[in-house]
Amino acid sequence: MSFSEETKQELVSLRTEKSCCMLSELNALTQSCGSMSLLGRGQVAISYTTENVSVAKRVFILLKKRLEINSTPHFTKTTRFGGRRVCIIRLSPADSRKLMYALHMIHESEGGEVYRGIPRRALSRKCCQQAFLRGAFLGEGSVSSPEREHHLEFVCNNENRAAAVTQMLTRNEISSAVTQRRGAFVVYLKRGAQISTLLGLMGATRAMMHYENALAQRSLRESVRRATNCDHNNMARQLSAAQKQIDAIQLLEERGQLETLPENLRQLANLRLIHPELTLENLGAMLTPPIGKSGVNHRFREILRLAAQE
Ligand SMILES: [Zn+2]
Repeated sequence: MSFSEETKQELVSLRTEKSCCMLSELNALTQSCGSMSLLGRGQVAISYTTENVSVAKRVFILLKKRLEINSTPHFTKTTRFGGRRVCIIRLSPADSRKLMYALHMIHESEGGEVYRGIPRRALSRKCCQQAFLRGAFLGEGSVSSPEREHHLEFVCNNENRAAAVTQMLTRNEISSAVTQRRGAFVVYLKRGAQISTLLGLMGATRAMMHYENALAQRSLRESVRRATNCDHNNMARQLSAAQKQIDAIQLLEERGQLETLPENLRQLANLRLIHPELTLENLGAMLTPPIGKSGVNHRFREILRLAAQE
């Protein structure tokens, strides 16, 4: 099972608690995987279509518990989903009306009933915002395994939906971006820490722990890799510097100049020939009297200068 499916499985198994949150989750699910069809004579029917049986089960439970709507999920193959098997929950016109009233999709006005395409329930409570995000993720979201890449997205079928999801994320201090893909508006998250936070907000504690664990391992691996690279680079630099020093010393030796060098330079040159691998600090410590790194560096510069002279 993919990490995305595991996460959804965990989310749908969460207990439904507050009635305000049940409605918020239902709101998001209706917007993300619900559709409305006009049956004539002012009658409207809402149906939910999803490839994920667990999501269908969640819709079924929320409708039943919150609104006492009984529904019958059924399976079919549809061209809209590339001929794949999907689960459909179709509501009767009467139940559809009940749902639309509950979600404030329609309201009575003096001229009769007014339909509103997008439910605009006030989602001021934190608990309801989180339930909304959970519903949206179940209906139109997916998340990549943290071992592979950091990516979580909501594929919204229109710009307003994308704006609603973005707003809900922003209110919870999660930053996202929007891009268009094959006519859909995709709201996505790319930062590992924020994806983990969102999983926690939606109530997917197990998925969040898995994510946090992967983040920790990754940062450990990266720091080890950085440290190793750093060691390699330092060592390579050190060896190439030592090689230049040895070349210069050997050149001076060939010219018979090594023996005529001042004592302090000759002592260092001889030490370097014996210990090509040592750092400047270590060489300095072996001199009599011992000197520091910059002193050793200074003496080597002098040796290189003399070797460069004809
Ligand atoms: Zn609530």
